[in-house]
Formats: sequence, structure tokens, C-alpha cells
Amino acid sequence: MSRKSITLIGAGLNGPLLALGLVKRGFKVQILEKRPDMRRIPISAGRSINLALSTRGIHALKQAGLWTTMQNIIIPMKGRMMHSVASELTFQPYGKDESEVINSISRAELNISLMNAAEERGVKIFFQRRCTGTNFKTGSIEVRDERSGEVRTLEADIVIGCDGSASAIRNEMLKLSRFNYSQEYLDYGYKELTIRAGPGGKHLLETNALHIWPRGNYMLIGLPNVDGSFACILFLPFEGTDSFARLSTHSDVEQFFQSRFPDAVPLLPNLRENFFANPTGAMVTIKCSPWHVRGRALLLGDAAHAIVPFFGQGINCGFEDCSVLLDLLDRWDADWERVFREFEQARKPNTDAIADLAVENFVEMRDRVADPRFLFRKKLELALQAKYPQLFVPKYAMVTFHRIPYATALKRGKVQDEMLSELSDGIERIEDLDWNKADRLVHSALTPLELV
Ligand SMILES: Cc1cc2nc3c(=O)[nH]c(=O)nc-3n(C[C@H](O)[C@H](O)[C@H](O)COP(=O)(O)OP(=O)(O)OC[C@H]3O[C@@H](n4cnc5c(N)ncnc54)[C@H](O)[C@@H]3O)c2cc1C
Repeated sequence: MSRKSITLIGAGLNGPLLALGLVKRGFKVQILEKRPDMRRIPISAGRSINLALSTRGIHALKQAGLWTTMQNIIIPMKGRMMHSVASELTFQPYGKDESEVINSISRAELNISLMNAAEERGVKIFFQRRCTGTNFKTGSIEVRDERSGEVRTLEADIVIGCDGSASAIRNEMLKLSRFNYSQEYLDYGYKELTIRAGPGGKHLLETNALHIWPRGNYMLIGLPNVDGSFACILFLPFEGTDSFARLSTHSDVEQFFQSRFPDAVPLLPNLRENFFANPTGAMVTIKCSPWHVRGRALLLGDAAHAIVPFFGQGINCGFEDCSVLLDLLDRWDADWERVFREFEQARKPNTDAIADLAVENFVEMRDRVADPRFLFRKKLELALQAKYPQLFVPKYAMVTFHRIPYATALKRGKVQDEMLSELSDGIERIEDLDWNKADRLVHSALTPLELV
């Protein structure tokens, strides 16, 4: 097998994890990263979000031998804690029992752990090196040193764009003929805020929950940090009655929060300052193909398929990309063209599916979680799962607690949604469920699942 040298663009989350798997297989790997090293220079305000890590991401971290050390920087979240405008709390578990949790992790901490592990295995990471172009014919990469402004050309056998939703490698592919590309922005933006830690580093809200303040067409969420704080995100339309456009002064912000999220206000002492210091982010779904240029270049992670964050799957999906690519390398040795082709064939239907599921879940999070009928459907789902564990697995569980292909989760989820509508029609208690009808529907519409 020819052990080619591989250049990854981007030392975000996918780059270092993929690099680890590649060096383990004997490849020489370097990463070019446009930003400074966050281990030396503090990350900028508003770039400290937490991620929800679940089964797919954990599986990839276990394969890389990193999951045990990650346990120190995660907080399991057992369910959603809903905060009403009247400051009432309602808890809704995520799964069938306490084994089904999602894990809050700081993006920065995860990134640092991955970079440390990659460097310990011999991966070279070059910071403040921005890829400004690549030539797919010759394999050359143009790189600008962000400190001096000097531009140099490097040679690479293989280049993999792990450079996120604004990928420079994808931009080069856009210049090729018959490259398919679509991007769709939400009309919503997001803003990061922080709930401070209490005395002695204690959490001021329930620790093991993802807190949601659902308000119809917008919401605030909070994910716990190990230092006792919560990383919060406000999702709000850019324009309209309740929107970022209407929050232009300190008093606008204060009044908005006092009237919509009253119980959060005392926990956000630097609300006004943070609100204006932190940028308002945009959210986009990007689909494209092909993801590769022969056996020379490939897109992976957000560069190939950026999704909106409402299913908490962006990095779980990206880490699953890494697992699939490395499995294919093991199967086909370094027949790169075949590996890249089969990678895209295996992943594209699934990444398209999670993109659609993520948009769909936004409505559920910001609006439906507060609806009693929705909560009853959730109970019904759990009752059906308990009775038919191989057949009826809730959509959320298929995506989050299993590695069932996303496309299967999307397809079965639609069938199950119709079943739930039919079975819940006219009843308000599980005791009133027509189990004969449930039996008929489940057995006629669903085949047994392989619960990976
Ligand atoms: C608000 C929000 C909440 C989210 N919540 C979750 C969640 O709960 N769970 C989840 O799984 N996912 C979540 N995500 C998604 C997740 O953050 C992304 O899917 C993930 O970061 C993608 O990883 P990546 O390595 O592909 O890209 P990135 O993490 O974006 O990394 C790309 C890297 O490439 C570098 N780079 C870019 N261009 C160049 C260039 N030209 N030259 C050199 N370097 C370059 C960048 O500086 C960056 O370091 C969330 C995203 C957002 C915005």
C-alpha cells in the first residue's frame, strides 16, 4: 500500500479526530488551521457553545480510544427541563430510562482534547495557516500565513477539507463543472449567553438537564458546564415582532428578557453586556455533491453537509463520517478513489436525512415541547417502545441513542408519526389505548430493527 501524505484543512472538531485515525493506519498527516491555537490564545467572545454529544459521536471517540478521558469533561443530560413564562418547570426525559442520556460538552474543551491527542500521535498542526485555494490537477494547495500575509504553495498527495460550513476546498469544487450545491439559511439567528455558576461552583439550575424556555417561534436553551455555569443560546428570528432587529438597546434587551424569560434574568447578570458583545450567528443547511475529486480531494463534516443545530447531531454526524471513512480505508487499503466514492455513496443519503430531521426538530423544540398533546404522544411512544422494543423505536432514540442510519430514522419516523396520530386520536390516557389496533398497525407497517 502506498502510504501517501495527507493534508487536512481545519483543526476544528472533525480534523483532529480523522487525523488520529489516519496516523494510526500509518499515514503522514498534517493539518492547516486558519485560527490561532486556542490553547495559547483565549477563544473570542461568543464562540464558547456547548455541544450535545450522543451515541454516534461517542462510538467514534471510543474507536479513537478517547472516550474514557472525555468522561471528565461531560455532563449527562437526562431530559429537557421546560421553563414556562410563569417560571413553572416541567421535566421530560429523553429516553426510556437513565441509560439514554445526551452529554453536554464544551466545544473548546473537546477541540483541545482532540488536538492534544492528535499531536501526541505525531500529527503536525500548523496554526494561522489559511488555505486560500487548491489545484486538483497538480495537488498543490495555496496557503496564507495569517501573521505575515505571506502566501506559499504546498504539495499534497491527498487533501481533505474538514474546514467547516464555509469550506475553502468546497469553494474550489464549485468551480468544477457539474458540481451540485444548495444552501438554505434559516430566518433565525443565534446568540450565546452565559448563566453564571453559583457559590462554590454549584449549578443554579438542575444540573443533569438541557434547559429550554420554549416560546412558540423562538427559544432560549441552556446546557450545563462542568464549572457550574450554563452555556445558553437564544434562537430568535432576525426580523419581525420578536426579533434581533428589535433588540437594539440595553433596555430593549432587558425588557424582552424580563417579559419572556423572567426566571432566567437573575441568572444572567451580564446579560446586556454579553448580548451586545457576542455576535449573532446565522444557521444554514448546505447540501452538495460530489464530495470528492477523483482520489485526490474529499470533503468531510460540515464542509460536505452543514446542518442546523436542532437535533444536536452536527458533530455526531461528522464523527460518524470519520468512522465510516476509516472503515472503508481498512477495507480497500488506500484505493483512494474507491474509498472516496463509496464514502459518499454510504453517507450522502444519511446526511441529507439528518439535515431534514434537524430543520423539523426546530419546530418541536421551540414550540411543541410545551404542548400537552405532544407530551402525551411522547408517553405513547414510550409505551409502544416498551411493548415492541425491536419494532417501535422513537425517532429521537433512533437518531440519538442508536447508530441506525439517519435515512432509516427519517423514513420510519414518518410512518411512526402517522401511527401515533391515529392511535392518540380521541384519547388522553395510555390506559385508553386500543392495543389491538396498535398491534395491527405496528406489525403491518414496521419490520424488526437491527439496534446498533
Ligand atoms: C449554535 C450551534 C450549536 C450546535 N450544537 C451542536 C450539538 O449540540 N451537537 C452536535 O453534534 N453539533 C452541534 N453543532 C454543530 C457542530 O458545531 C458542527 O457540526 C461541527 O463543529 C462541525 O465540525 P467540523 O470539524 O466539520 O467544522 P468546524 O468545527 O467548523 O471546524 C472547521 C475548522 O476549519 C477551520 N478553517 C475554516 N476554513 C479554513 C481555511 N480556509 N483554512 C484553514 N482552516 C480553515 C476553522 O477555523 C475551524 O477550526 C452546533 C453548531 C452550532 C452553530
